[in-house]
Amino acid sequence: MIYFDNSATTRPIPEVIEAIRSNLSSEELFGNPGSLHELGTEAMKAYNEQLKRIAAVLHCYENELYFTSCATESANTAILGYLSRNRRNGNVVISTKTEHKATLETLKRAEELGFTIKYVEVNKDGKPNLQMLEELIDDSVTLMCFTHVNNETGSILPLDEIVALRNKKNRRIAIYLDMVQSVGKLAIDLKKMGIEMGSFSGHKIHSVKGIGLLYVKAGVNINPYIVGGGQQNNMRSGTQSLVLAEAMRVALEEAYKNMDESHESVSEINQYLRNELIKREAVILSPDDALDYVLNVSFKGFESETMLHCLEKYKIYVSTVSACSSKSKKVSYVLLEMKVDRKIAGNSIRLSFSRYNTMEEAQEFIRAVDEIYKLFALH
Ligand code: PLP
Repeated sequence: MIYFDNSATTRPIPEVIEAIRSNLSSEELFGNPGSLHELGTEAMKAYNEQLKRIAAVLHCYENELYFTSCATESANTAILGYLSRNRRNGNVVISTKTEHKATLETLKRAEELGFTIKYVEVNKDGKPNLQMLEELIDDSVTLMCFTHVNNETGSILPLDEIVALRNKKNRRIAIYLDMVQSVGKLAIDLKKMGIEMGSFSGHKIHSVKGIGLLYVKAGVNINPYIVGGGQQNNMRSGTQSLVLAEAMRVALEEAYKNMDESHESVSEINQYLRNELIKREAVILSPDDALDYVLNVSFKGFESETMLHCLEKYKIYVSTVSACSSKSKKVSYVLLEMKVDRKIAGNSIRLSFSRYNTMEEAQEFIRAVDEIYKLFALH
């Protein structure tokens, strides 16, 4: 099997599985961290230890982090929680139309609640048009929502420039950043980045599904989205899951252990595939300076789904963001926003790598593509 769909989800690594196994089989750690007896205090102690270690990796304070069920929950909580709590700060939110649905749908909800959403256009490289952004920023803006690394193209946000623009034009604007595809692949230093809120997801970094993180900078007030017993400083109620917290912590620590080496080997794979695919008349849709973990490519003469299923026959798994339904052909809204030709966008597939992929797999992928082309007698 060749798994090139790591932006969709990743396989849990042995270190995570071992941490889960050992946690679940422990006789001391199953308690409710809220319980007053020894089992509760032991569980709370261990839980706080996870937070402390995660905060060390992300360079923030422990009390700035909240565990959620996934990044989608983190996005909902951050955006709606911030807007409802800070109504007097302004009524306008700035974002792009290339955000993940977790953000776009949350912004739709905000619009229904009376907020105005202004979308800054993206350039051909998927980055927001900074001139337009500067024009949009005024005193009515309260929040800006962006994605650090786009999940479909790997396009990297010019965060420093955006933070500088905010600082220049209206320092009261909060920035929410989706870091789902960047964490573990780019250095994350929450103290230095200049953002107020952010989201992370466990299953994208070789942990398990069911765990996410929300970052809210100290001093920024937001309303909780999930209310109840007041766990996690009243910000996210529900009994804390020590096992999931640990699964997240281990995955994060592992991701940052050899980040540079991992990046180097993924870069080689990416470069090799770019070169080989261009020779085969494929069009590379990821920008040249995209994060190497994502490679969006359009195959001449093959609709996205056709290529996906052809590759599946070779046990090669990729993803398509363009899908055909019986009635209409859906084309990636991200690529269309980047002004990619509709036909080319309709033939695009996304390859997304992890540090565990190898050059041999990339070579095998190219062999499979050649066979598929031959089979369809297009070459
Ligand atoms: N943001 C981005 C950029 C993503 O790629 C994803 C997952 O596809 C999400 C948010 C949502 O993550 P989760 O599955 O943890 O809700």
